[in-house]
Amino acid sequence: MFYRIRRRAAKPSNTVRRFIERSARLEGQVPPEVEQVRAELERIEPAAVVDDFLPPELRVPSHDQLDGRMMPWKWPLVLDGEMVACAECGAYRDWLILSTRDQIWLRCRAGHQQQETRLDTAWYNRNSGPADATHPTFEDCLRHLGH
Ligand SMILES: [Zn+2]
Repeated sequence: MFYRIRRRAAKPSNTVRRFIERSARLEGQVPPEVEQVRAELERIEPAAVVDDFLPPELRVPSHDQLDGRMMPWKWPLVLDGEMVACAECGAYRDWLILSTRDQIWLRCRAGHQQQETRLDTAWYNRNSGPADATHPTFEDCLRHLGH
């Protein structure tokens, strides 16, 4: 009995031995670069929070960030079989279609604007491509679209 206990104490069990062997092997496996990187990471001050999102000019604002959107509409606009004309000057094509706050407005070449209740935001979304540019003001946007 005594003999067996001594043996056990002197010789680690297979499991313990395997663990020790594996640890030793793992220790040798840590590449020196890892230690280097670790040391460097400790040296480096926590970096300021970097805004790694796209620069503002490349961001596409979500719809609720925009006051409105507009697209040129060169062709006559026919709704319910009726060609839409400007109430003031009679223009019937070369519109700008404005979508703002769930309303659709038509703007003729002469700058008259009228609300078009037969169109809605869903229609606008179906018919407009992705916005190619955003503009800080309504006037900038008009200029961009050649109005
Ligand atoms: Zn007009």
